This record gives sequence, structure tokens and C-alpha cells, in this order.
Amino acid sequence: SSASSTESCGHVMSKQEMQHYDGTDFPWSKEVVWNLKELFKLSKFRPLQLRAINMTLSGKDLFLVMPTGRGKSLCYQLPAVCSKGFTLVITPLVSLMEDQIMYLQLINVPAAMLNASISKNNAKAVMAGITDPKSPFKLLYVTPEKIAKSKLLMSCLEKAYKAKLLSRIAVDEVHCCSQWGHDFRPDYKLLGILKRQFPKVPLLGLTATATSSVLKDCEKILCVQQPITLSASFNRTNLYYEVRIKDPDNEASICDIASLIKSRYQDQSGIVYVFSQKDAELVSSELQKRDILAYPYHANMDPDSKSRVHREWTANKIKVVVATVAFGMGIDKPDVRFVIHHTISKSIENYYQESGRAGRDDASADCIVFFGFSDIFRISTMVVMENVGQQKLLQMVDYCQNLDRCRRSLMAVHFDEVWDDEGCNQMCDTCCRVKDYSTVDITEHAKQVVQIMELAASMDEKLTPLKLVEAWMGKGPAKHRKTIKPTTLSRQQVEAVIVRMLLQGYLREDFSFTPYTTYFYMKLGRKAPLLKIQSHTLSMKMRITDGRSAVVRAASGQGKAKQPKRSVQCAGDAPVSKKIKTDLP
Ligand code: ADP
Ligand code: MG
Ligand code: ZN
Repeated sequence: SSASSTESCGHVMSKQEMQHYDGTDFPWSKEVVWNLKELFKLSKFRPLQLRAINMTLSGKDLFLVMPTGRGKSLCYQLPAVCSKGFTLVITPLVSLMEDQIMYLQLINVPAAMLNASISKNNAKAVMAGITDPKSPFKLLYVTPEKIAKSKLLMSCLEKAYKAKLLSRIAVDEVHCCSQWGHDFRPDYKLLGILKRQFPKVPLLGLTATATSSVLKDCEKILCVQQPITLSASFNRTNLYYEVRIKDPDNEASICDIASLIKSRYQDQSGIVYVFSQKDAELVSSELQKRDILAYPYHANMDPDSKSRVHREWTANKIKVVVATVAFGMGIDKPDVRFVIHHTISKSIENYYQESGRAGRDDASADCIVFFGFSDIFRISTMVVMENVGQQKLLQMVDYCQNLDRCRRSLMAVHFDEVWDDEGCNQMCDTCCRVKDYSTVDITEHAKQVVQIMELAASMDEKLTPLKLVEAWMGKGPAKHRKTIKPTTLSRQQVEAVIVRMLLQGYLREDFSFTPYTTYFYMKLGRKAPLLKIQSHTLSMKMRITDGRSAVVRAASGQGKAKQPKRSVQCAGDAPVSKKIKTDLP
């Protein structure tokens, strides 16, 4: 089954009892089904939607965890329409609020909002509507700031509560309550007042990204007692996940993406995610040169250009948006057939969100990452200030590099999901291409790397990842490599071994700050001494074939030399200056 559900520790509900809520024999069931079809124009519920709707209409407090784009909003919008009075919806961003109001207007569901951007008169009318027994709106959207700061709003809500007009409270993006979550917002911390003042109103918390510990925290902060937690599976069965090795030469890497789009996604809609604003401009213009209708999108563009790109892409006038992570919230195009990452994301959670914009219509779509050695260090220096930034980045790197396990299983771990290997159904490259990989003993290779590192340390020198690669391959200053013979491994294999050593703690990062730049150096890790022990071995699965797909190369017609030109400044050597604009979320 594609959905799973769990109960929070306090509230034990049997499986049978849970299933009871999937039924259609509740007093409200006819109305619910009618509204689904006639008002929302949807043919059927997606997994867990009906269960959540029946539970909240039964008056239960509920946390609903469901991946972005699966339809959480319906789980409060539909009950709102079927209830007396109105539903209070807390949303963190005004733009999300406006999107929802626009949609509700379109389908003739009366809705209103209160935030800093609306006029005084408008706000006054909305306040009056709250206590109006005729309930001029079925949904009222407010920012958490409003709850925290407006006594007038609280007093109106109290009147509405007493008149039984406040039918439900929905807290969207509920993980924002918790400091343990990735998007803590201080005003969310004060929302406990709602359940304390309006204890009889059922509360529905919604999120795409909460772990059980974050949810426990939200439960306390919101003062809900023993809510039921419904968790939908994070497995997007229609998405094919693939990782390709990025060509170290920037132009060649863009060329690979262009050929991929032209050969596989002709006339289809997609997103190419890039690292910086400059990359967005560069990659989009390169794609344009190759006759692909691609436009950039990043935070530094003026609002008009941004919304034009968004609009024309939604209308299929533009095929590809080449974007930084600024292209995110509110993107809800159903027929996105591919999401290509020109640069890896900074964490698996981010990757899941970004790639998850593909295939929202449930038809098949591809999520492809181009994994480049030097990108690891570009991002590493960028997230250096974040507490668990390195750890999260390395998990993303592991996702790209690990050929031992299904890509989906590597993602599932991050969502506390018990993974069943059947769940992939050959919809990732590791599951499909098992025969292209073989396990290689890399112990001797790793020892050579340690020797190079020790030699550098003895000379009081630090090595960047690129210097390390070069020394090992017999290039660069002779003094760095005088104790070993150049390796027989290819550049790609050399990089793979170094990444593996970094992931497993044989190597580690060593940052150095100058007023303008952060440098990434390599250092021996805590496990390096193990390599001195005779019996200690280290192995990894490697690609037998070139990770850059041969098919694409042939299709590109670029006639590139067999050994692509390696640009010297490509690897982690290039300092990442603060001037690079990356549009951090
Ligand atoms: P979430 O809040 O979980 O990220 P939304 O509520 O914004 O997702 O819904 C995402 C999209 O899914 C919307 O376009 C919505 O119309 C669509 N959707 C929701 N429920 C269904 C359904 N049962 N069948 C088809 N599409 C649906
Ligand atoms: Mg949502
Ligand atoms: Zn798989």
C-alpha cells in the first residue's frame, strides 16, 4: 500500500479503528463526496485524505504528515465547507495565503485573510465577519503574527467560539513551532493560546517535514493532548531517481544537460536547479543557444520578471526554468516531467522537496542529479556556519555516491520511514543497474591517500581536495607526491575513493577563514589510523561504466574528445567567496 499511518504515543488507536475512518457512512459523508466532485472538481481522494477529513469532522485533534503537493489543504478546506461557521487557518507566508484565497475564489468558496498587507477597512470587515452568525466566509487565513499580536482578533475569535462559529483550527506548516524543525518561526511558539482558549475546537496540524520528535515538540507547544498522527508515505512511486557523474568541465556539464533535455524531454516541462544566481543566468543562456526554451529564475531578478517566468512556464510557453532554490514555495505545476539538479542540494530534505516538484499529476517523471566532486566543497563552505550543515550535506553526498542501496531507501531514512525494498519497483538507477557496479577493495588506494596527507602535514601544508586529487594522480608540485607512485585509477575513481573516505571518516573537512573567503582543506579523519592495521580493509561499489551516460553522449553530437578537457580551476580549489549569490531558503 502507498500509505502508512502511525499513532502518537499517547493515543492508541487500533488498525481497525483507523480504518473505520476511511468509511463513507458518516453523517457528513454524502456532503463530503458531493463537494469533492462538484466543488473541488476532483475525482477521488488521495491516500489518507478521507481518513483525515473524517477524523477532523469527528472532532479529533490531528497531525497530518504528508509530502508537499499531495493535497494537505483539501483536508481542512473540504471540512470547512461541510461545517457550520468558519475554519481558522494559520499560514506562515502571505504569498501562500494569497494563492489559496485565489483558488478558493475560483471555485466559489468564500474565504478571507488577515495579514499586514490588507487595508484597514478590509480588516475591519473581516473582523466583523468573524462574529457574524451568517458567516460570510468559510475559511479565515491569518499569519501567526496576527494571533500573537492582535488582541482585537483574539477577542473576536472568543466571541465566535462562544457562538459556536469557530468550527476548526488548521495550523499549516506546523513544524514551524519547533526549534528542532528546519524552519522555526518564533510566532508559532505562541499558538498554544488557541487550544487553551478554545479547547473544544478540533485542531489540525499539517506538515510535510516533521519527524516524530518534532511532532512531540509541536504537541506540547500547541497544547493539544494526545493528537492522532497520520503519516502518508514519502515514497513517490511515479518518480524515477537517477544520479549521473557531472563532467568537471562546466561547459561540458551544461552540454550534457542540454542533450538530455533534447533527447528525452523534447517539448516537456521541467526545472533545472543550479547553485548560484550566476549559474542560473549562464546555464539558461547555454540551453537557449541549444534551442531549448529555458529562462532563469533567482532572487535577484525583479518581481515582474520572476512572476512572468513563473506564469509563462505554468502556461507551457517556457519549457524549462533554470532556477536557484528561490524557485520553490507555491510552485504547483502538475505536469513537470523532469527536475534536473546541475548541482547537488545541500541536504536530502532539500533534495526531496526540490525533486518532488516533478510528477505531481501522478504520471511518471524523472529526478536526475549531476553529482560533481568540486560541488561538494562549494556547498560545504556555504553551509559552514550551520550547526549540522556538514552532516546534512554529507548525507546528500552519500545519496549520490552510495551504490549499495536503493536511492529511495537512502531517502526514507530521513523521514523516519520503515523501508521495504519492494517499494522502489526498479524506479531508481541503483536498483536498475546493479550489474553495472562491482565491489572493489580500496584499502591500498586509501593507504596511498593517507600517505599523501601525512607527507603534506609533515611539511606543514594543507591540501585542498583538488591538490589531493592531483598529487595522487601524479600532477601538481612534486613535493606532495614523492612518497608514492601515481595511481592507476581514473580521475572519476580517484574522486569516488576520496568521497568515500570523507563519508566514512577516514578524511574530514578543515575550514579556514579569511575576511573574504572560506577555504576547504582536507584533513585526516578519526578513522585514518585504522588503515595502519594489517587486517583492516575498505571496499566500495564502483561503476564499471562511465557514470556519464554513453547514450546521452552519443546523442549530443558534440564530438568531444574521448578524454574531456579538465579545467584546472574546477575542483574544490576555487575559494567560495561570499559574493556568490546562492538564494538560500
Ligand atoms: P500540500 O499542501 O500537501 O503541499 P496542496 O494542498 O497544496 O498540497 O495540493 C497540491 C495539489 O494537489 C493541488 O493542486 C490540489 O488541487 C491537488 N490535489 C489535492 N487533492 C487531490 C486529489 N484528491 N486528486 C487530485 N489532485 C489533488
Ligand atoms: Mg500546503
Ligand atoms: Zn531503488
